[in-house]
Amino acid sequence: MLQIKLPFSQPIFPLVDIGVNFFDKAFADDLDEVLEHAQLAGVTGLLLTGTDLDNSEQALKLANQHPNLLCSTAGVHPHSAADWTKSTAATLQDLLAEPACVAVGETGLDFNRNFSTPKQQQLAFEEQLTLAAETGKPLFLHERDAGVKMLEMLHTWRDSISGAVVHCFTGEKKTLFGYLDLDLYIGITGWVCDERRGTHLWPLLPSIPLNRLLIESDSPWLIPRNLKPRPKKYRNEPAYLPWVLQQIAQLYALPVQEIATLTSTNAQRLFNLPVALLERKLP
Ligand SMILES: [Zn+2]
Repeated sequence: MLQIKLPFSQPIFPLVDIGVNFFDKAFADDLDEVLEHAQLAGVTGLLLTGTDLDNSEQALKLANQHPNLLCSTAGVHPHSAADWTKSTAATLQDLLAEPACVAVGETGLDFNRNFSTPKQQQLAFEEQLTLAAETGKPLFLHERDAGVKMLEMLHTWRDSISGAVVHCFTGEKKTLFGYLDLDLYIGITGWVCDERRGTHLWPLLPSIPLNRLLIESDSPWLIPRNLKPRPKKYRNEPAYLPWVLQQIAQLYALPVQEIATLTSTNAQRLFNLPVALLERKLP
């Protein structure tokens, strides 16, 4: 039987990991085992992030193979916005027509690295906002150093879209409150466990209303730095989500079970997830 290390004496569930990138080469060899680890750790549902057309298709395919555990998103990440063509929206629309594909994204703006130009990013984002409005599906958003423009665009679109999460929020108070004013959900990752660069989030976190809080691993990146001992394979995986949960619960001064239940219910509500994704299954 597989063993899994936890920060608690028992697995806490349900836990819905709303951000997983399984099509990174980090998972090429042992995806089945990674899914088993996740379930042993109390993770009952996972949302596979689509960041371009290829991996949006792969994510949906895998989600359809594990309907009680996985759902997917379909979108084009701001880094890849330069690849957006006239036919991209139609391809995404076909993916979004499937029930297991529950959100538009990952989309948004990243002016930190500008792998695509800001103009290309805004165009691809605008097209994906249109898709969200047309399909009624919520958005899975990415933003880095682009809060002002992001808020401006979301403000214009807010009445047309059903909802959205700003995933892996690492920004400042003003941006956070801007998103909350638009009644968006906020995704928190292991960034909050990082004593070097995540401490600005500590006083901010409890101002996120508990009915707008979501939790995510962002695997294979952002391994929680409170995870002890460090695993031999130095990559993040959904089974380490309990360490993020523990840190969040400490910041809210609430029991871990309460945070687990609330964030999973929030994910179910925002993404209209099948209830099976909140039920414990053992591998
Ligand atoms: Zn992202």
